[in-house]
Amino acid sequence: MRSILVTGGAGFLGSHLCERLLDRGDDVICVDNFFSGKKRNIMHLMGNPRFEVVRHDIVRPIFLEVEQIYNLACPASPAAYQYNPIKTIKTSTNGVINMLGLAKRCQARLLHASTSEVYGDPEVHPQTEDYWGHVNPLGPRSCYDEGKRVAESLCMNYHLTHDLDVRIVRIFNTYGPRMAPDDGRVMANFINQALRDEPITIYGDGGQTRSFCYVDDLVEGMIRMMDQEESIGPVNVGNPIETSIKELAEMILEIMGSKTELIFEDLPADDPRRRCPDITRARQLLQWEPKVELRQGLVNTIAYYRQLMEDNAVIRRKGSAGAWGKPQ
Ligand code: NAD
Ligand code: UDP
Repeated sequence: MRSILVTGGAGFLGSHLCERLLDRGDDVICVDNFFSGKKRNIMHLMGNPRFEVVRHDIVRPIFLEVEQIYNLACPASPAAYQYNPIKTIKTSTNGVINMLGLAKRCQARLLHASTSEVYGDPEVHPQTEDYWGHVNPLGPRSCYDEGKRVAESLCMNYHLTHDLDVRIVRIFNTYGPRMAPDDGRVMANFINQALRDEPITIYGDGGQTRSFCYVDDLVEGMIRMMDQEESIGPVNVGNPIETSIKELAEMILEIMGSKTELIFEDLPADDPRRRCPDITRARQLLQWEPKVELRQGLVNTIAYYRQLMEDNAVIRRKGSAGAWGKPQ
């Protein structure tokens, strides 16, 4: 039994991680400012005496005693992280410094949730961890991409300077139950648009690709990375099967038996054309690879959103792009 801090623990990935850690017997402190996280994601954990929730923004210091820190706090949807870009940068810089400082004081191990966005619009395909990336430092995605790149640099420099025990995972597009229906990311948009019989908004011609990993697989990869002793990373964690956005839309409609139309809107600036992880390192180091096929993951995710609608939970709407609007 360990004492573990999960920042961003009320978010999509964080809530699944908290649940898994509690299930195996750990004490879990969830720190979240509820910017994009939701209380409903962690409601079912509230009665557990080994679970604590602290409403706190990691941009400010916090004093806790823990043995491990999973640092997930940061909005992940392009629309959400562009809503207040300076805050997004602060979360990945000041916030990460605070969490690294906490790890240093507690002599805790810190795993940082980095992202495939550090590769930008990649010129190397599939992306290996030694690829340095192709990021526009001034574009609308830069607050997130460059923030996450600085965060990796901070982790590495705390490791080199203070011998801090860090782990870096680069997460590729992950989906599943508990991604907020108004999150703005493609899975949430497409499925909820189909549920509401609204047109499916494909940005660009839909030929751009992503590689979609189911949340259970991703959480397993993160925990394995945290609990191994061999490498600080970075390690790509994601599903290496690439799907175009148009194919994704068609698959969702086919599974749902929906006849709603596809409409094509302008592609947001700097939207990466292709993205696919090379997971050789994760396979070798973690003996990990994704198990859940896209079709099965979609069935689970659709069932979750359908239930949420039936439960009359609030699905906030601001046009079909969700709560944050469409990314620039
Ligand atoms: P999410 O938006 O659902 O969760 C992020 C959580 O962090 C939310 O609960 C939010 O309220 C909280 N948060 C944001 N800023 C904070 C701050 N300053 N202080 C405290 N809490 C704060 O997104 P997610 O998909 O669960 O992503 C979790 C992490 O994984 C993020 O760091 C993200 O960059 C990374 N990641 C996710 C994906 C993915 O496909 N889901 C891909 C790459 C990287
Ligand atoms: N996308 C889309 N329609 C939407 C939302 C997203 O076509 O309603 C596209 C988006 O332009 C991108 C891909 O889907 O090419 C994945 O977008 P998402 O926001 O989920 O994550 P990203 O990988 O871009 O960070």
